[in-house]
Amino acid sequence: MKKVALITGGGRGIGAATARYLANHGYAVGVNYKQNKQAAELLVSELQAKGCEAIAIQADVSIESEVVELFSTLDRELGRITALVNNAGILMPQMKITDMTAERINKVLTNNVTSYFLCCREAVRRMSISAGGYGGAIVNVSSAASRIGAPGEYVDYAASKGAVDTLTTGLSVEVASDSIRVNCVRPGFIYTDMHADGGEPDRVKRLASKIPMERGGEPEEVAAAIAWLLSDEASYVTGTFMDLAGGR
Ligand code: NAP
Repeated sequence: MKKVALITGGGRGIGAATARYLANHGYAVGVNYKQNKQAAELLVSELQAKGCEAIAIQADVSIESEVVELFSTLDRELGRITALVNNAGILMPQMKITDMTAERINKVLTNNVTSYFLCCREAVRRMSISAGGYGGAIVNVSSAASRIGAPGEYVDYAASKGAVDTLTTGLSVEVASDSIRVNCVRPGFIYTDMHADGGEPDRVKRLASKIPMERGGEPEEVAAAIAWLLSDEASYVTGTFMDLAGGR
């Protein structure tokens, strides 16, 4: 069966490393992006040049109609989805809860939680054997923040990842008999652009000495774990959490 993966937020960071890994391991990949068309198209060109099947698809995954259109495009261009990587996420500037507005909190929750639910919904509708599908696998990208809470920095972001953990647990049981596996990775401090959005581009460097392994992680190290959870090697693994945080 053709392996077709959708990676939300696949143009940069952990998503791009995952798209590259999956494409190099025989998947046709849909690289979703929100605004950075250049990064997504550059990655797709790189993959196509190697003979991989890849397309870039613009969609804001926090908006229901755009998610529906995203999955329709994937159906049309690559075929039925077999693997979903829910990866797109945002981080807002560091602040205490006392300074957070409802607008900010809702923005974080819509982008980091509603989006994951909507993409899971569309994937499950296509993968479920009871609906005529052939099964599949989903990996949700959560964060070590869901365990730690990110006090004084972004408790809203940490709480959004707590919701992702609970989504993983609930959905994994809900669809287990439909041949769909749902797992989760929880990266710690990974070298990507995300920390600049949080107001501290060098955050990983600053905190590296506090990590037991005394270094930040690379996007490729997260991608390898995601790929394993999606693969047939993990055929009896569902509802599980893989922490990629250097021992933290
Ligand atoms: P990143 O480099 O900032 O990339 C984020 C990606 O998400 C971008 O491709 C962006 O699209 C996309 N995106 C954001 N909102 C979107 C939306 N509404 N619709 C579609 N795409 C959207 O971040 P990253 O560090 O790779 O993070 C990836 C995931 O890992 C996130 O869920 C994050 O919470 C999680 N994580 C990261 C770390 C870390 O230390 N970096 C640690 C734990 C967990 P554009 O390219 O179009 O802007």
